[in-house]
Formats: sequence, structure tokens, C-alpha cells
Amino acid sequence: MKVLVTGGAGYIGSHVVLELLDQGFDVSVLDDLSMGARENVDERAEFFLGSILNPEDNAKALEGVDAVIHMAAFKAAGESVENPEKYEKNNVGGTLTLLGSMLDHGIHRFVFSSSAAVYGDPQYLPVDEKHPVVPINPYGQTKLDIEGKLENSYSDRGIRFASLRYFNAAGYDILGRVRIPEAAPNNLLPIVMEAANGTRASLDVFGNDYETRDGTGVRDYIHVTDLAKAHILAVERLEKSSSFTINLGSEKGYSVQEVLDTARTVTGMPILANITGRRPGDPPKLVASSQKAKELLGWSTKHSDLESLISSMWEIYKPAEATF
Ligand code: UDP
Repeated sequence: MKVLVTGGAGYIGSHVVLELLDQGFDVSVLDDLSMGARENVDERAEFFLGSILNPEDNAKALEGVDAVIHMAAFKAAGESVENPEKYEKNNVGGTLTLLGSMLDHGIHRFVFSSSAAVYGDPQYLPVDEKHPVVPINPYGQTKLDIEGKLENSYSDRGIRFASLRYFNAAGYDILGRVRIPEAAPNNLLPIVMEAANGTRASLDVFGNDYETRDGTGVRDYIHVTDLAKAHILAVERLEKSSSFTINLGSEKGYSVQEVLDTARTVTGMPILANITGRRPGDPPKLVASSQKAKELLGWSTKHSDLESLISSMWEIYKPAEATF
């Protein structure tokens, strides 16, 4: 079976490509390299440089494909507030162009990278799939818009979809095969790694006065390889069953302070941190219920404890000359 991964040179995409290849799938990758790194695409995959916004690029990459895992999207919530048009054009417009190309080629299986950002501020915890969807930034809105279109119009046109709502992806391939770290990251874990290896002098902790166990924000971090495995299970399930929407999280919450403490232990580096004000739009705590994914897919996490997450990242981020 052949799977096209759009955005397969990106952080999560390159891990999904590895997992597919390791499990014996044929893989094509379509990526415009605006964010991803060509070096992170395993050489067993066929690589197409191009954009989902271009039907001709889609047509080339869709040749002989049975299912699509669609990960080509912009994902910086803050940037989406500054530049909503960029998010609307690529995340919504690009996805609709890709879906049109799939229908032209008679391809009907679609795994969609959605996000916990569709929920907005959590009204209860853990957040399950029945939680109201009220995004608080354009990024989350683009994900919800596509989920709605899949549900309402593309289902009628024969598309079977899996919407995967990611919580906080972190970690790197345990075998160290994804070598190039994300450029200019926005998320806590890579920023902590950059503060550990000297790429940046320190990091800002966005608030220590939340009603959490140590006052800092709590999130559900999920190892990218655990996340990747769920995509393979989702593609397989779509072969024989109807569409579904699931959360993908570890169901464990770690605070920024706990992340910092563990990172200092794992790396042996001091990691300077300054407490600053809260970041607008940040909920105090966000933790998933992933029961539905476990029941539907038989999925479980293996690498999502904080120490495994951080040590797999440090393998990539640690300075070459360091001896550990
Ligand atoms: N955070 C922080 N400093 C940073 C980046 C993030 O203190 O430089 C905090 C943020 O407030 C949140 C957690 O780390 O509590 C995870 O943030 P991230 O941006 O990685 O993911 P989010 O859950 O916001 O999508």
C-alpha cells in the first residue's frame, strides 16, 4: 500500500514517514520545504518538491497512492493572529485543493492533522472529543473549518477521514534518524533544548501564578513517535471502517517547571530561565483524554514520559563537542 505524506519533511511528518517505512508501506512525500528539511526525509521515500496549493504538484505526488496523510500546514498560533490570511490560504485553501486533487484521482482515504487548538479554553479536564470546540486563534479555526468540511461535504463525496487532534508533540526519533531540529521553534521543549545547548541564552517562563501545582502552565506532551504510530493505525482502520475524530495525547500533564527540572537533570546544563508574565491566550492546564484512540485503534504510548521525551531531544540538540 502506498501513502502520500504532505508536509513529510516537517517535524511530525518526518517521523510519520519513518514509521510508515519501518512498517513496510511505500511512501511519497510532498513538501514545499518552507518549514521542513529535505535531509529529514528518509531516502526510502519518494520526494516531490511542491505545494498542496498547486493541483499539478498534487497530481504528480498522488500517482499510485492509496491514502493521504495530510500534515502540510502552518502551526504557529501566535503568528496566525498576526497573519490570519496566511493560515486561511494554506491551511484551508491548500487542504481543499488537495482534497479536490484526491477526488480527481479516485483516492478516498484521508488522515488529517488536526489539533487540540480546536477546543480553545478547556471547560473541563481531561478534554475528550465531546468537549465544545471554540478555537481562540485563527490557527485552531483553520483546523476546525477543515474538520467541518470533511464531515459535511467531503463525506458525501466519498472521502473517509480520520481527524487526529494532537496535543503537545515533542521528542525525536529514538534511533536518532531525524537529525535537523526545527528552525526558530515556538514550543516549550525545543526552546528549552536551545537554552541548554547555548543557541539561546535563556528562556522565558510565561507565568508562575496559575492555579497549578507549582504555578506554571501544565500541558500534555506526547512523543512524536507515539503520535506517528497512531497515524499508521488510523490509515489501516480507514480501510474497513467509517470516519472518526480522536484526541492524541499522553493523558499526563507536566508543568513548565517540571519540564525545566527534568531537562536540567537529563542535559546536565544549568538552563537559565526568567519568569515573565502570562502569554495571552494560554490556558493554565490542558490534558487529553485519549480513551477513544485507545479503544478505536488499540493505540498506546511508549515514549511519552518526560525523561524519554527530553533525552530523545537532547540526542539531537546536544553540542557535537560535548561528551556525556
Ligand atoms: N511556555 C513557556 N515559555 C516558552 C514557551 C512556552 O513558558 O518560551 C509555556 C506555555 O505558556 C505553556 C507551555 O509552555 O504553558 C507549552 O507551550 P507551547 O507553546 O509549547 O504549547 P501550547 O500548549 O501553548 O500550544
